[in-house]
Amino acid sequence: MAIYVNKDRGFDQAEPVARECPHCGAHAQLLPVAVPAFAEIARTQPKNVGLVFRCAACGEPRFVRAAVRSIGTDRVELAEHLVEIERPRERFQFGYLPAGVEPLLRETLDCYTAGTHNAFASMCRRTVHAALAVADEDTPQRWRDTVNDVLRLADIDAGTTDTILEVLFGSSGQPPTIGSDQSAVLIEVIKDLFYQRYVRTTKLRAALKMRRFFAGESNVTPIDRGRRELA
Ligand SMILES: [Zn+2]
Repeated sequence: MAIYVNKDRGFDQAEPVARECPHCGAHAQLLPVAVPAFAEIARTQPKNVGLVFRCAACGEPRFVRAAVRSIGTDRVELAEHLVEIERPRERFQFGYLPAGVEPLLRETLDCYTAGTHNAFASMCRRTVHAALAVADEDTPQRWRDTVNDVLRLADIDAGTTDTILEVLFGSSGQPPTIGSDQSAVLIEVIKDLFYQRYVRTTKLRAALKMRRFFAGESNVTPIDRGRRELA
């Protein structure tokens, strides 16, 4: 799919590009909003150019960088591969987290989005420590068991499992150094751990409370008996 900036006809994209939007999450088309002018590229001869698109679904701007493949007399050809500057952020139901944990988990997930793997590992450990500091005595062991279960379920190898456990619960001064592969496992593990501990638990408790409330109500005045009495 070629992309050209023409001397006369301006921006020319053979096929529309659709991608997951970092703002709304939709797999939506990118519509060009601001693109470099031919004369400017011809004069400055850059290796890369910046383009601004907007998301067809939510209208938010999408900033893109493209390599300049060739600069001709009538048109400039850009590389097909468009590099998006903003990566999709990790989603989480942050509203379920305690006040001292929520901002830390946000930053943890942002570190993953930024591709800073070791900053991500350090923030994972810090966030777990902050959450465990206000939890019961037996919580650390239960969390360890939960993480072990998740890693076993996903058939993660022993080496990675040890590294993930050391990052989250290790007592050494610094978490071990990790790369993109371990980071990819860690993001799923930490999201699942905090989902299970906070989101799932809170939703389950609320659902059970509601069920038991209505069960108690119906013991006092069952709906069918009420109807019979009315009849
Ligand atoms: Zn969008």
